[in-house]
Amino acid sequence: MDDYLRERSRLFNEASEFSCPDGCQRYDCRDSEFHITVSLIDLVALSRACGNKVSSLLKDHCKIGFDPLEEDEPWVGRLTIELKKPCSFLEEKKCSVYPGRPVACALFPEAFFVLGKADEFLKKEIFQKFPCITHPATVPSRRKEILHRLLQMSAQEIFLSDFISSVSLPFLSISKTCRKSSGGNRGAGGKESRDPSPSI
Ligand code: SF4
Repeated sequence: MDDYLRERSRLFNEASEFSCPDGCQRYDCRDSEFHITVSLIDLVALSRACGNKVSSLLKDHCKIGFDPLEEDEPWVGRLTIELKKPCSFLEEKKCSVYPGRPVACALFPEAFFVLGKADEFLKKEIFQKFPCITHPATVPSRRKEILHRLLQMSAQEIFLSDFISSVSLPFLSISKTCRKSSGGNRGAGGKESRDPSPSI
């Protein structure tokens, strides 16, 4: 996992000519109308970058979202985990977890141009305030290859994350309930002992 996260973090900026313009108010990090979906891999990367356990990231920094599969059928989709807004990792105009930020943050806005979606997004009023979309940086061909690789990694991470969540979370919650009802996980003096499980 360490090697994978290191490689992922390296690719985030490899061959990129993009940087957030000074004049931008970091709308994507602040406004609730922009949804930043995170996978369990993103949460592990964030946990390494900020030192918080995944469970506390989920509780304090994330919320449940909904990702519609089709724009004209907004009621069909998947439940997601997304960052609460304004993102608590934004300090002034800087991301405090930059090397461990979610893939969705690293892909924005360059992926729009690689996927040929810039025109579609430019038509939407909410994107008119983004200088990086109205005046995009060039995306060199080497960077385009890397963005395609990151998009592929992101799709695999989301698939894996959805699979783990759907399979393991019901069991984790049952085992937690059983431990509570059997009085387990309590130290001397009736105080809750530290959870020895890995930071998830
Ligand atoms: S993790 Fe960083 S880049 Fe992503 S929304 Fe938060 S502050 Fe912005």
